[in-house]
Amino acid sequence: LRRDAAVADNNWAIYPLLLGEADVPKALDILWSLSPDKSLVTVPILAWLLIPARGDERVLVDTGFSDVERCMQVQRLGPHRTRPEWALEAQLSNWGLTPEDITTVILTHLHYDHAGGCSKLSRARFFIQRRELEAAAAPMVSRDLEVGGGALFYDRRDISAIVDPLWPRVELIEGDETLMPGLRCVLYANSHTPGSQVVYVETSAGTAAIIGDIARNVELNIQKWIPPGIYYDLESTRRALKDIRYRAQVVLPTHDYETFRRVAKGLK
Ligand SMILES: [Zn+2]
Repeated sequence: LRRDAAVADNNWAIYPLLLGEADVPKALDILWSLSPDKSLVTVPILAWLLIPARGDERVLVDTGFSDVERCMQVQRLGPHRTRPEWALEAQLSNWGLTPEDITTVILTHLHYDHAGGCSKLSRARFFIQRRELEAAAAPMVSRDLEVGGGALFYDRRDISAIVDPLWPRVELIEGDETLMPGLRCVLYANSHTPGSQVVYVETSAGTAAIIGDIARNVELNIQKWIPPGIYYDLESTRRALKDIRYRAQVVLPTHDYETFRRVAKGLK
């Protein structure tokens, strides 16, 4: 009985925030885009609010993009959409919170659709893998690549905000770290990005994995173990996908409407 009580104390509730939508090639879900299906699919851009069973922490995993025009103009990607009710402020207010209430932000990685809202969080500290910040500041890209903003989907404006003025509130992590009871960051180097991390969260439904974009589709990438189209090292990515499957009972990717609908009311 006592052990059950201790476990419950470590538990968190997880609420999805819908911050926008994008139309992307479905083939991106599949290794090297080896798919005959060249159609577009509409995907959500999500972030996750975490509230502990006990304590005052209000944690946000990822922060969405900075503005919709910029996604298309700078990254030269297909249509992105937003609505007033999808703004970070509006999504937090659905759960009775304002951006000032957020005490901690954890970024799975620093791509434009995950690290674009940091400047709105005036009080939070930001947990970022050092490896990821290095890669984002000095991306391995040719400027002649037409898509990706000349920086492989890192928006240099977001990265410069992290380096300064947000820097006094940035806490760099190196590798795996338990940040709070029931909340652990695990680095999967050279998976979706050089410093992508998964946030493992204890809930009453078991361990949930907030995976950023290491996988895009749970059935395809995790269950069938077919890596997605964008990754740095195939072997590291395959190992990451298998490790996530082993550790987590619930897998929460950023860009999957099916997952969003399943947990729209929160995972407690
Ligand atoms: Zn993404």
